Amino acid sequence: MAGTIVDTDIAVVGAGGGGAVLALALAQKGIKTVVLEQASGPPQGLRGEILQPNGQQVLDRLGLLNKLPVESTRPVRTFHFCRVGGERLCTIDYGALPAPYNQAVVTLPNVAHHAILTAVQTEPSVSLWYGASFVSLVKEGAQVTGLTAKRGGEDITIRAKVVVGADGAFSKVRDALAIPAEVHLYPQGYLIAIIDSPMPVTEAKYYVGKKTILGLFPAAGGKVYCFYMIPRGSYDQVKAQGLPALQQAWTAIDPAFAPLFEQLKDWNQTAFMPTGRVRTPTWVADGAVLIGDAAHAMNPHASQGRMQAMVDAMTLADLLPECLAEKNFSAAKLKAYEQARRPQVTMLQRLADEQVLFWNSANPVIGFLRDRVFRTLDRNARLRYRVLSTTAGLRQSPPFSLIDRVMAAGFLPDPCAKNA
Ligand SMILES: Cc1cc2nc3c(=O)[nH]c(=O)nc-3n(C[C@H](O)[C@H](O)[C@H](O)COP(=O)(O)OP(=O)(O)OC[C@H]3O[C@@H](n4cnc5c(N)ncnc54)[C@H](O)[C@@H]3O)c2cc1C
Repeated sequence: MAGTIVDTDIAVVGAGGGGAVLALALAQKGIKTVVLEQASGPPQGLRGEILQPNGQQVLDRLGLLNKLPVESTRPVRTFHFCRVGGERLCTIDYGALPAPYNQAVVTLPNVAHHAILTAVQTEPSVSLWYGASFVSLVKEGAQVTGLTAKRGGEDITIRAKVVVGADGAFSKVRDALAIPAEVHLYPQGYLIAIIDSPMPVTEAKYYVGKKTILGLFPAAGGKVYCFYMIPRGSYDQVKAQGLPALQQAWTAIDPAFAPLFEQLKDWNQTAFMPTGRVRTPTWVADGAVLIGDAAHAMNPHASQGRMQAMVDAMTLADLLPECLAEKNFSAAKLKAYEQARRPQVTMLQRLADEQVLFWNSANPVIGFLRDRVFRTLDRNARLRYRVLSTTAGLRQSPPFSLIDRVMAAGFLPDPCAKNA
């Protein structure tokens, strides 16, 4: 071993959505943790942030939900799904969920993440190192006993009882563990923009049409997030066509928002986010665990990727004190975390992929079925609640049985349609 040597209980690679929550949850249990983050500081870039009810629960457990700055957060209850052109298909009301998490919370970029990182930095049992990159694992036989890292040219060895790979979809920790991964990049990603709105926007709108998706989400400070599906690799081409072309395309989707789209004045108000899915046969090894996108990235249609990373972190943080007390860091012991988490994650990955099939399509028959399902949901409180509670992260099992699917497609009446 060369360079500086550090001893800790848990070493976390990545201070993203999952790693930061894990660090704080472990700190609150007094567990000695080192977190490596390759970036030079907290993220500053543009990204859309919707805290679903399960994510709000996590922040509440960490004592942070009520501390998020009110001027940066916006509760949103009503989400309208519409056809391109403006016709409303279905309205989802988060108010139907049990209080107090009966709303979505739209935050300005990185607000919740910064609150978590700030809280982490006040905790004496956690060291958060920016500009520190994972290099390799340290092993004794098959057991992972630490890692090596580079921090500003310095070689560091961290001896840890458990190494957590929270380093995203292209996880190097996963590679070092030789855990095979199926990494699928979807052909579509999202151009996102945050625009100052000249008109009051209080309810979210989500437009679906022939290979077209545009989401408009009200954010704090009179701003609106726009999510627009574009082919992967086409961001530069969209930019080359100029802002007026993009504004025209959006205005064709809903002319009522033309004044909003005119406020898109600079490409600096936009960013591109690719979308991917990761599947791995296991999330644990002797002395190591994967959480979040490293284990199970999913299509953003689920609106749950970051939420699931946060829930992973809380589940793992609840298990690790037991592992430390028993001095048992085997894959068999850590598997309890995976067993608790895999059913919901797998269900959400499948659901998001079904939505990709129906929502991203240019096929008119598929589009017809999609709209029919939305219209059924609008009339059917029972099925609507199933979908809402799934997106809210409050359901572990699939929202629809086979018979529900037939009813949702409008081919069978539902005698329980009014029971939410
Ligand atoms: C268009 C789009 C919209 C989305 N919308 C939502 C949404 O509405 N709701 C939702 O819940 N989720 C959403 N997501 C998904 C969400 O962004 C991810 O699922 C979430 O960020 C995963 O968290 P993570 O901690 O696993 O990974 P990340 O947040 O990617 O964090 C990984 C961290 O590891 C660091 N890292 C990587 N390699 C190394 C290394 N070698 N050494 C040290 N550090 C390293 C990275 O710098 C990064 O900080 C969306 C995603 C996309 C693409």
